[in-house]
Amino acid sequence: VKADLRHLYQEIIIDHNRNPRNFRRLCGDCQQARGFNPLCGDEIDLYLKIEHDIIKDISFEGKGCAISTASASLLTEALRGKTITEAQQFFKDVHAMLTTGEMSDNLGKLAVLGGVVEFPARVKCASLAWHTFEAALQNTAVPACTEA
Ligand code: ZN
Repeated sequence: VKADLRHLYQEIIIDHNRNPRNFRRLCGDCQQARGFNPLCGDEIDLYLKIEHDIIKDISFEGKGCAISTASASLLTEALRGKTITEAQQFFKDVHAMLTTGEMSDNLGKLAVLGGVVEFPARVKCASLAWHTFEAALQNTAVPACTEA
């Protein structure tokens, strides 16, 4: 990664940490999961609203380091409006990026998280939101509220 690109990536992470997108609790008929990264103390609650296999709404709450917050914010931005199949492809591509450094063209802005590969202790910070998302997908057992 060239120095100017690295600088841009850092700017995006700082921006998403300061102003996290979709940082709110979702109510209504939603799926949710809680994720915790004990290595760093990051905590995330992720909320999903799925209709006809499309992610209609997605949001999160929580507290953690800049990487975990920015990663969750970028995740909600990337996955909103996507199908579950598309979301799972993002999960695979992000996982490959964080574990092997392999960069898929599909990643788009999520590529900014690729820099953490050089810092193994931060990989779990970056992947927490994604594992929490996977858990929320499986979790249909928590009706937060009844239909409005
Ligand atoms: Zn962290």
